[in-house]
Amino acid sequence: MTLHTLEIPVSGMDCAECTLHVQHAIAALPGVQHVDVFLASEKALVRCDPHQVDLKLISHAVAAAGYRVPDQSTAPDRAGDLHRSYSRQVFTLFGIVFFAVLFIVVIGEWLGLFEQLTDIIPWPIWLTIVLAAGWPVFRNVVRATLKKQVISHTLMTIGVLAAIAVGQWATAAIVVFFMRVGDYAEHFTTERARRAVKDLTALAPQTARLDQDGVEREVLIAQVRPDDVISVRPGEKIPVDGEVIDGRATLNQAAITGEAMPVEAGPGAKVYAATFAQSGSLRIKTTHVGSDTTFGRVIKLVEEAEAQRADVQRVADKFSAYYLPVVASIAALTFLISRNPLSTCAVLVVACSCSFALATPIAMLASIGAAAKRGLLIKGGKYVEALAQADVLLIDKTGTLTLGQPQLTDILPQADTPDQKLELLRLAASAEKYSEHPLAEAVRSAARTQGLTLLEPHDFEALPGLGVRARVNGSVIAVGNQRFVGQDEILPYAAELEAQGKTLLYVTQDDHLLGGLAASDTLRPEVPAAIQALRSLGIQRLELLTGDNERTAAALAQQLGVQYRANLLPENKIAIVKEYQAQGHIVVMVGDGVNDAPALAQANVGIAMGAAGSDVAIEAAHIALLRDDWMLVPDALRIARRTMRVVKSNIGFTIGYNAIGLTLAAFGILPPVLAAAAQSLPDVGILLNSSRLIRQK
Ligand code: ADP
Ligand code: MG
Repeated sequence: MTLHTLEIPVSGMDCAECTLHVQHAIAALPGVQHVDVFLASEKALVRCDPHQVDLKLISHAVAAAGYRVPDQSTAPDRAGDLHRSYSRQVFTLFGIVFFAVLFIVVIGEWLGLFEQLTDIIPWPIWLTIVLAAGWPVFRNVVRATLKKQVISHTLMTIGVLAAIAVGQWATAAIVVFFMRVGDYAEHFTTERARRAVKDLTALAPQTARLDQDGVEREVLIAQVRPDDVISVRPGEKIPVDGEVIDGRATLNQAAITGEAMPVEAGPGAKVYAATFAQSGSLRIKTTHVGSDTTFGRVIKLVEEAEAQRADVQRVADKFSAYYLPVVASIAALTFLISRNPLSTCAVLVVACSCSFALATPIAMLASIGAAAKRGLLIKGGKYVEALAQADVLLIDKTGTLTLGQPQLTDILPQADTPDQKLELLRLAASAEKYSEHPLAEAVRSAARTQGLTLLEPHDFEALPGLGVRARVNGSVIAVGNQRFVGQDEILPYAAELEAQGKTLLYVTQDDHLLGGLAASDTLRPEVPAAIQALRSLGIQRLELLTGDNERTAAALAQQLGVQYRANLLPENKIAIVKEYQAQGHIVVMVGDGVNDAPALAQANVGIAMGAAGSDVAIEAAHIALLRDDWMLVPDALRIARRTMRVVKSNIGFTIGYNAIGLTLAAFGILPPVLAAAAQSLPDVGILLNSSRLIRQK
């Protein structure tokens, strides 16, 4: 059986709970193996057997659950989405209405207005008001109840029924009013958080100017293939990921990196979809199109970040499941002890809201969306949570702390003649021809500068953290560290070069030492400040992990004031991560995403540098930095802490508030009408609190 993944748009979902309903509805179909439903991007990813399930069946299942699969043939109206403005004024107006009604309720109760109203207005009119206003909610509750599901509105409906049962019509009407206002506020906030993600999508280019044999034609993105040549004029958006073949331009790459400073691009430069040419024209050879581009991946990952839920949310979800029985028991006890139907009603009414379970995903969505705009791709709430608790930070050296563009500084053949120098370089560069390691690039670029022609290597193998070996011109050439080439002899100048922070590579030919190559790499300028910031954020342990030699590592570690371990293989790095985890630490690992992918995956949070343009890095990391800026690491930490503070204060506030409300209601201090008004406050508070995160500074 071959499984396919279908991507299905779903509309009508306003809350985390809705996604669960849709998920259950689809998962219940035969032939469906796995379902992920995303609130932010309004879609479901369904892993299923295409012979058993199709779009129609899924649409029916979704419709039966009360949601909709929009017609696929009508393209999504992006512009419309953006114009449907959820502006500040609407929010303010909504706040005014909310508090005005709240005020009227409190004053009205004080004046005893509601008793009079209940007497004046006959009950059939009250019933009509309550039913008409609450209809969409009651319908959902009935539907869910028939399926033996409990939703957040179930509790409110019980509250309304309780109020009606004891003849508190005004209370019933007020609960319904706030229920609807609460729904609206929730919808509004979700939509705003969603918009942070949608704003990103709106940046995606739609058309490209295809250059075929000198003739230019405007085509839809979907028609562009890798290797096609695209031309870009001043002011235009680059539609694909690719390599510049000719032209020069000043690019604004903010869409990818969040960095507004323009960068220069000329022949050979890599360019990314959704960035644009501020000035200058380019001809680009396409490498990736559409969802394969860096930008496409970012969008997809942000949209799907919801799948990685934070533990705190799981706890909240569990708590909501127990909430209903707990409230029912308190109500029953109240009735048994006090025999007061009004207090019992007030207990049921005041406990109506349990929106903290819904507010967590909104907070996460808001934060992740805001972070993505700044070049910080966080793959889920789970990582926000872990990052906020992190206390150990492990740092890879090459390509992470350093620029990753080492320069070859010394060529040191055993027999020191000019000829030998060039031959050593040529053999080493030939062996390194297919290595992606930054040191390999240093060797190759030195060979290029010398105008050397490289030989074709055979049986090439690269050993991460050690070096490369290949057959060149009939003999086996190895380039790497001393351990790797299996030499007992230490090059005489090793200590001196390494103390200068240089990396020394040994080169052997059929196990004979040919000589050494030294390379030096520059520390990224912002690293010391970033390390300082991390330390002041309370990260206790910072440690440099490197495959490089002891002396080079020591020189750098001392400069930064961090601990270090040298001569590590990739598997040693994983072991160190595990060692810290076993001691109960929450470990963040910052690496280059290519060599370090396994250690990044093992860490509680793996942060990859230089992710723009690197598929591997984006896939491997939990957080990908799309801009090579170390300051994003403390930034990520701050965002995570702030988000968790909001989430926790939401939860703490609701629990505390409801506990007090329940107590006052049970002792008959809080009359039903005021209980109805009181239950609406935490909802709004939580939504406002969470939506602060949408606007990260
Ligand atoms: P780091 O842990 O600092 O990022 P790596 O694990 O990538 O470093 O590499 C560690 C060491 O392995 C390098 O210092 C170098 O000696 C050797 N090495 C790895 N790959 C290569 C290569 N392609 N060519 C030469 N040496 C290499
Ligand atoms: Mg590295």
